Amino acid sequence: MRYNKIPDEAVRRLPTYLRGLLSLSEQERKKISSQRLADFLGVNHWQIRKDLSYFGGFGTPGIGYDIEKLIRQIRKILKLNMVRKAALVGVGNLGSAVLRYPGFRIYGFEIAAAFDNNPKKIGRKIGHITVAKLQTLQKRKIDLGIITVPCEAAQETFNKLITAGIKGVLSFSPCYKTGRKKIKVITIDIAMDLSRLSYYIPPSQFVAGQALS
Ligand code: ATP
Repeated sequence: MRYNKIPDEAVRRLPTYLRGLLSLSEQERKKISSQRLADFLGVNHWQIRKDLSYFGGFGTPGIGYDIEKLIRQIRKILKLNMVRKAALVGVGNLGSAVLRYPGFRIYGFEIAAAFDNNPKKIGRKIGHITVAKLQTLQKRKIDLGIITVPCEAAQETFNKLITAGIKGVLSFSPCYKTGRKKIKVITIDIAMDLSRLSYYIPPSQFVAGQALS
């Protein structure tokens, strides 16, 4: 099936729908209406219908969506119907926590390798992964990278990942410029997300602080 170009915002929401549908399928549900799916996820039902309509996921009027079919479709769109291996660079506090995070599995991801440049960390085991030198990355069949090095090492790490053939990078270090069109970079900056959250919350009544000019 050929899909229409799906807007980035809709792609951003698809994993939320997938997670909800997976959890409904675990409850052995077969069908669900967009309204109930929306209530379950805490989003608007019209948004779900609009997003799913980009790839023909209209469901059946009066019956709703076939949960297993929709799971397969969303996986296919997100290209999660194939094995996706990721490598993490920077096994400090944050990197170690990410390596131990069990939530990747429901989307079919595997963090298959971890790298660091600190000789004391090479050979250390986190879960089933042994920390290695970044030079060995090229030999591994990996197409996604996760950067958890400090800011000053982010650009260099990014360049090395790209040279090793990585096509997508999830970065926890928002301090570099990519300058490469064909590489998709998603940056996670908790401080930035908190600032966005702040917009929706009334000024604090609890802290008698001065406003920043
Ligand atoms: P720790 O003190 O155990 O190193 P940390 O979380 O405070 O933990 P950071 O300074 O944030 O450490 O660095 C994160 C990790 O990135 C560290 O393990 C560090 O060795 C590693 N690192 C730093 N620069 C590079 C680099 N150029 N290539 C690969 N790994 C790097």
